[in-house]
Amino acid sequence: MKSIADLGDVAGQRALVRCDFNVPLQGDQITDDGRIRAALPTLTALQQAGAKIVIMAHMGRPDGEVNPKYSLAPVAARLGELLGCDVALAANVVGSSAQETVAGLDNGQVALVENVRFEPGETSKDDGERLELAEKYAALGDFFVSDGFGVVHRKQASVYDVAKLLPAYAGFLVEAEVEVLKKLTVAPQRPYVVILGGAKVADKLAVIDNLLKVADTLIIGGGMAYTFAKAQGYEVGKSLLDETKIDDCAGYLQQGEALGKKVLLPVDALCVGENAIDFSTFTLSGDVVEADITDLPADRGGCDIGPKSAEVFASEIAGAKTVFWNGPMGVFEIDALADGTKGVAKALVDSDAFTVVGGGDSAAAVRAFGYDDSQFGHISTGGGASLEYLEGKELPGLSVLEEVS
Ligand code: AMP
Repeated sequence: MKSIADLGDVAGQRALVRCDFNVPLQGDQITDDGRIRAALPTLTALQQAGAKIVIMAHMGRPDGEVNPKYSLAPVAARLGELLGCDVALAANVVGSSAQETVAGLDNGQVALVENVRFEPGETSKDDGERLELAEKYAALGDFFVSDGFGVVHRKQASVYDVAKLLPAYAGFLVEAEVEVLKKLTVAPQRPYVVILGGAKVADKLAVIDNLLKVADTLIIGGGMAYTFAKAQGYEVGKSLLDETKIDDCAGYLQQGEALGKKVLLPVDALCVGENAIDFSTFTLSGDVVEADITDLPADRGGCDIGPKSAEVFASEIAGAKTVFWNGPMGVFEIDALADGTKGVAKALVDSDAFTVVGGGDSAAAVRAFGYDDSQFGHISTGGGASLEYLEGKELPGLSVLEEVS
């Protein structure tokens, strides 16, 4: 991949930059601006080089239709505060407002075009339709910088197709993320402990398959742990269970044993009544009961790892030299069910290992608990992208940069 560190004199040239600014919002308030901060090294370098900066980004899933709910206005405002300058927001993606906004930029100035997913071509499966839109994007820039790591696993017009139409470079964020992921896949320092959590076991099977080969210890928590518990022969009450994946989980447990890997599952859980959680507001009704995994109440569901599990997991993390963590240990959005996730976050912070938080909910969780990014080796901006990289999949947004370099 060509790096923006290798750019020659770009003063006065238009840098078309893809960023991942898909930040969590409550109303129009950004609740975690980590992804915007992560783009600053690339953006300030381009500003200092005197480029005119045109940013493409998406927000949510407006499905190819203009929807003010998904406007990038809050992002433009926050980016302006962080850069200490005005950031203009065009009223559309490639129309006359975008063209005029770009034409009005002076050297070092920054503008955003509106949510690229307002355009149906952005996420189209039709190559021709994507290319047609990418040509309009390309008309807004003289060179392309790919810095939206959270979307490099997507074959989309502003990530993939536009990179074929302009001289294309990897931004500092994409380079940094790839460097970290390489460290995790090529000769990681051992012991290498991987912690996986989150709700859906099906989403994580491919990464388990690959990581079992490279990691020394696999720790499994969160809702996905109960399908493993069932595979071990335990009854899981009303806990999350994917009946279709029990055999896969049993297979991975056997494979781990055959490979001489440690696979740690929760030994206890915090259980709540069936339907006691309203997931739309994250409120809990009723009490929380601690139970051993061998003895889960039939009428309750496990919604956090218990204190014994948290201790076992923390002591395993304390002995590691490399740690990768993706997915919460429980419904961390509810205080009474957050201790397991907090325990893992604290164990990472206390550890001397190279610690990587793999994006998404876990990144939001550690920040919500009050930890600073600098307390971890790396917090990825891309949950899906980093998991797909670790699964060994080809990421279109990266391979296109290699192809054109
Ligand atoms: P995922 O998108 O698969 O990483 O899942 C993240 C979500 O899983 C978070 O919103 C958690 O609240 C939820 N979660 C974690 N553990 C559990 C559990 N034991 N039961 C239900 N939901 C859970």
